[in-house]
Amino acid sequence: MSGNETAIGVDIGGTKTAVAAVDGAGRVHARTSLETRSERGFATCRDELAQSIRGVLKEAKWTVDACCGIGIGCAGPVNPTRGTIHNPYTLPGWDGEDIVTPLRDAFHLAVRLENDADAAAVGEFQFGAGRGASPLVMVTLGTGVGGAVLVSGRIYRGVQGEHPELGHVSVQPDGPECYCGTRGCWESFASGTAIEAAGEPFGFRDSRAVFAAAAKDANAASIIRRAVHATVMAAWTLCHTILPQRIVLGGGIGEGHFEVFAGAIRQQISRATQFASERVEIVKARLGNDAGVIGAAALAFQRPTRPETP
Ligand SMILES: [Zn+2]
Repeated sequence: MSGNETAIGVDIGGTKTAVAAVDGAGRVHARTSLETRSERGFATCRDELAQSIRGVLKEAKWTVDACCGIGIGCAGPVNPTRGTIHNPYTLPGWDGEDIVTPLRDAFHLAVRLENDADAAAVGEFQFGAGRGASPLVMVTLGTGVGGAVLVSGRIYRGVQGEHPELGHVSVQPDGPECYCGTRGCWESFASGTAIEAAGEPFGFRDSRAVFAAAAKDANAASIIRRAVHATVMAAWTLCHTILPQRIVLGGGIGEGHFEVFAGAIRQQISRATQFASERVEIVKARLGNDAGVIGAAALAFQRPTRPETP
């Protein structure tokens, strides 16, 4: 394969880092994963990551020259311009570290770092449920609530290139206090963590147990109703601020209970008078378990929206 048809995708999460060799059609040819364990120090993890990249290239039988680059999606905050990671809570020991330069020097490839939610959205835009849609909003309902906004396939960036934190759209002004500085955030109701915490006093083990009991247990039903309502209100806000052509719902909860959330959103926006709600599509993410690495590789296929180094 020629150099513009293949890429390496790296998805760095708090516990696990996945690495894959991905072709220009979004197909994974080889993959591996390693424990992130960032507390071991950046140098050790960086070397291990480089080794994993060599490993998947070998397994895919690709040479470095056959790759157009390395894309990295990382649990944010990250600085895409400087290639640095700023997440002392999820990735302790790596704060402020530049992950782009050492990989670029080691492989002589273009390396691009983005927030993992942005990477997943670029992946869905190029290869999945977001194809051709603009503006595109990708919402991930998982352990937390995250999201990304793409305009013509390009990542929307705020001031200083910052990533919008959709999970902190407030849906209930007198709701529970959030660490972000206000109350009643979407994430406080609809994340796996929030659903699990709400279910705990009623003896539910985790968010999965709450969903499973919702058809027959009033407490579980009420927790899920709140999660759905919060998502509907947040989607309402997103529709009125961004007016997306398509909203892609991803993440374990968003995909696992897609019809529940999408149905409620569609019903609510059908009442909208300020935009053509029939033009807004609510669809399920399509890249599944490989979304992280495919999205990361998609970054390498896409030209960056700004220089990678200052
Ligand atoms: Zn918040």
